Amino acid sequence: MRISKNAFSNLAASMIAFGVLIGLVFPFAVLPVGVPSSVALSPVFFCFTVSAGVIVGAVNISLARWLVRPRLTLMARRMGEVEQELKEATYTGDWSRCDPQRCGLPADSADEFGVVGASFNRLLEALAESHQVETRLSEFTQAMSAELDVEAICQAAIASFRRDLRATGVAVIGDTGDRLEVLASHGLDAPHLLVESDLVRHAVRSLKADSMTLPEHLVIDAAVAKMRAQHVIVHPLVLKSTAIGAVVLAASSEIPRSAQALGPLFVRTLTVALSNALSHQHIRRIASLDPLTGVLNRRAGLLRLDQEFESAASRGRPLGVVMVDLDHFKRINDRYGHLTGDGVLKQMAEAASGVLRREDILVRYGGEEFLAVLPGAGASDATIIAERIRAAVERHMVDVGGIEVFATVSAGSCSTDELTVRGAMDLVARADEALLTAKATGRNRVVSANRRPADAGRAGPADAPAALPAGR
Ligand code: GH3
Ligand code: MG
Ligand code: MG
Repeated sequence: MRISKNAFSNLAASMIAFGVLIGLVFPFAVLPVGVPSSVALSPVFFCFTVSAGVIVGAVNISLARWLVRPRLTLMARRMGEVEQELKEATYTGDWSRCDPQRCGLPADSADEFGVVGASFNRLLEALAESHQVETRLSEFTQAMSAELDVEAICQAAIASFRRDLRATGVAVIGDTGDRLEVLASHGLDAPHLLVESDLVRHAVRSLKADSMTLPEHLVIDAAVAKMRAQHVIVHPLVLKSTAIGAVVLAASSEIPRSAQALGPLFVRTLTVALSNALSHQHIRRIASLDPLTGVLNRRAGLLRLDQEFESAASRGRPLGVVMVDLDHFKRINDRYGHLTGDGVLKQMAEAASGVLRREDILVRYGGEEFLAVLPGAGASDATIIAERIRAAVERHMVDVGGIEVFATVSAGSCSTDELTVRGAMDLVARADEALLTAKATGRNRVVSANRRPADAGRAGPADAPAALPAGR
């Protein structure tokens, strides 16, 4: 049946035809009650009853039009207005005028009008909810695309998961290739244990979201007390049929279904953003490393030096540097070949890294020159660390493909605590001068730029014949 096909015309025709029919039948119906047939079946009486039938039909259709039309017109007008508001909101972004409270129809009767009105109102509510989801998703996508840093992306995602998905505890886990690692978390007492969780491992393996009550060890930090979560959802972060990590959402009560439905949409966006950020981080890491020795290259190293210099100056802490240079390295190359020379450089960097502190930074400054940046190191600390490097290299018999080589280094140390330096490069220049003194005064030794020239002497052993194979 077509709703719009001449409903009122059909109704009018039917009502008038029904009136005519009643008018035609009525004269026969009055015969049994004693009306003489000469009266009842007379043309005048027929005319009268048929006219009465037509009038009743016409009055009925008018009544129907009078009662029904305004309601239908109201509905049509309200729907037209809403359509207009929706069109405008699509372009202006102001959806407040399409609010169901404002645009809804009065649906206070139990008849078909009430049902139609209520259906229309529900349609508006569904539209408003769909728009809300779209807005949240668009805000989330915007937040994700504004960052390229893994930590910033994780923090932005956590904020959205807490606000829009009503999660009290959140963890973003990344798959680094050989293991899972918690990249960021909020509100979880022992997030590191999550990587051991069967729930997380299963979600990552099966590539399917999982939901359950919380494992014993996971505790949520509430405002005043710690409490057990009631509901945990794990979403794997799936890119091209591979899990690049997972998101754990935990809440102290069941996460509402509408919020749950947002989860997969947010997770899809996070996956792409996180994958880009991890690739970017990886590329940046590779670009900042020296491919031969694996320590920071000169460009990245000098950037770190600048940062450490600024940080030390602002916190009133000393900054030490040590410039290290292999002794007579050219001889090693000439004697054993450049490949062996490369191996010596590599092992020298390893030996130096092994004696540095966690916060120290080793940089390949040039060919066979290394710069160690030592945050917090005063003049004597810098000299001690330089001496450790020297001794470690001297101790270390380099074995390159069966060829054993002895190598030594000379070092110049320097710290901001006893010197007035104009900048980070000035500090490096002082350490370099001290290195030249170490070279000039016999090699395989440490000279501190902080000591007066008269004191500058050897801090290491006497000049040893460099680059002699073991046993010579
Ligand atoms: P000194 O004790 O005065 O520092 O003498 P040296 O021979 O170490 O210094 P010099 O500057 O004369 O020679 C440095 C050598 O380091 C020359 C160059 O071929 C070599 N070298 C620089 N980079 C590399 C590298 O990546 N691999 C190898 N095998 N050799 C390198
Ligand atoms: Mg050298
Ligand atoms: Mg050199």
